[in-house]
Amino acid sequence: MIAPNTTPQPLNIIILGGGIAGLTTALALTKYAPSTHPPPSITIYEIRPQPATIGGAVNLTPNALRLLSHLGALDEIRARHYGKECLAVEVFDLYSNAKLAESSFRGPDGKGLGNPPFTALRITRGESLKGVLAAIEKHPNIRLVCGKKTVDIKEDERGVDITFEDGESASADILIGCDGIHSVTRLKHVEPGRKSVYSGICNAFGFAPRRKTSSSPDAPFEPTHFETTAMNFARRGILLTSFHNEAQDSIYVGGLMQVPSIASRDGWKAAGADAENTRNDMLERFAAGAANSLIRTVIQDAQDLYLWPIFTLSKAGKWATDRVVLIGDAAHAMPPQGESTGIVFEDGVLFARCLARWMEKGGEKMAPVKEAFDAYEKLRRARIETAYDESQSVVKTVLDAGWLGHKIKLNVIPWYLWWTRGYREAHFIEDVTSCELGY
Ligand SMILES: Cc1cc2nc3c(=O)[nH]c(=O)nc-3n(C[C@H](O)[C@H](O)[C@H](O)COP(=O)(O)OP(=O)(O)OC[C@H]3O[C@@H](n4cnc5c(N)ncnc54)[C@H](O)[C@@H]3O)c2cc1C
Repeated sequence: MIAPNTTPQPLNIIILGGGIAGLTTALALTKYAPSTHPPPSITIYEIRPQPATIGGAVNLTPNALRLLSHLGALDEIRARHYGKECLAVEVFDLYSNAKLAESSFRGPDGKGLGNPPFTALRITRGESLKGVLAAIEKHPNIRLVCGKKTVDIKEDERGVDITFEDGESASADILIGCDGIHSVTRLKHVEPGRKSVYSGICNAFGFAPRRKTSSSPDAPFEPTHFETTAMNFARRGILLTSFHNEAQDSIYVGGLMQVPSIASRDGWKAAGADAENTRNDMLERFAAGAANSLIRTVIQDAQDLYLWPIFTLSKAGKWATDRVVLIGDAAHAMPPQGESTGIVFEDGVLFARCLARWMEKGGEKMAPVKEAFDAYEKLRRARIETAYDESQSVVKTVLDAGWLGHKIKLNVIPWYLWWTRGYREAHFIEDVTSCELGY
């Protein structure tokens, strides 16, 4: 008599979207799969011909670096010397160049926060994605397929079926929508009514090659008023100036500013690509009255200037059906609040751990997979709601203000950073790879 085969089959997973959420979730699902099971079989379908490595520079906070380290991507980033270590985000008044406060990642002995300690890394979105892609290549159970546009998603008690525009189709046990703010997974399947809304603010960004003090090839770079990253507060927005590479030969310039809504996506695309209009707007907002001449020169010298409208989703909303779940911006896009990328990594890791627990408990034989989706959501909602509230405060700070409003803001910022320091550091120290799941 032949003994019944009791080896569990690999869980078949489709991820829509090869952005930072899709790629890191695939790594987390692989890393945290139960050792008693074969690794899940994961296919990532990305709509673009290749993962888009464009975008500005993000700050990877200590918790974000810790997770990238667990997922094997930080070694890839470090091996390529991507990014610039950031010990603190310094806050300046643009009109006096006075330093008002800082948000520090130095930790008690200057080595960083948490155990093991991490500081922060200012890195372009593109380089962080390249580091994660290098880690993905080491896992044969993860397949990345580009140029696939999903036009239909169906699910029943057996699994999920998707159809692509080219007529091909794919099936899986579950589908994870990591397809960003304009997510097809959400709009075609999970919650079609939950549309993105323009937040009222844009990020105008580019990269300025650094000027030297003289034309001699050995001349040093012109000095900066910041160590790594400065937030320069103005009446009509916040200008971020930051190094983003080890050579410190280029400055990332990002202006968060209030911009009237444009009716169509094509209209936004045209405005986004009009670099000279964006430059003039930035000069008017930030260079006029700036105490430090560097502010004008970095805006003048910025290359590839782009205007990126920040869209957001409503705070509440549905994250999952029986077999389809949303992660990252697809579930909870919000204006920047300083930790956006770290929040996305946490999503992926916590979701992967809940799914692993469900598999350990016997998987489909014992309970529908929705049980794991619900456990994840229960764990995650409060953190996302708090981050969402913080992002609304950032929007208010960015909105155009008169002189009095600006002065009030300048007085409030140091107190706000002091008041919220403990809360922020608690998150920077937290390790969601080992926290209690409650499931
Ligand atoms: C090209 C690009 C540039 C960006 N630049 C900046 C920036 O400068 N500053 C900033 O703060 N944020 C930027 N963002 C947003 C930022 O990356 C996200 O807010 C954040 O990292 C959350 O990541 P995510 O993976 O959830 O979403 P995203 O980074 O938006 O990734 C979503 C991915 O899904 C893909 N996708 C979309 N629809 C489908 C579909 N139907 N099927 C398959 N794949 C699909 C997209 O092409 C993308 O690769 C950018 C996003 C993109 C896509």
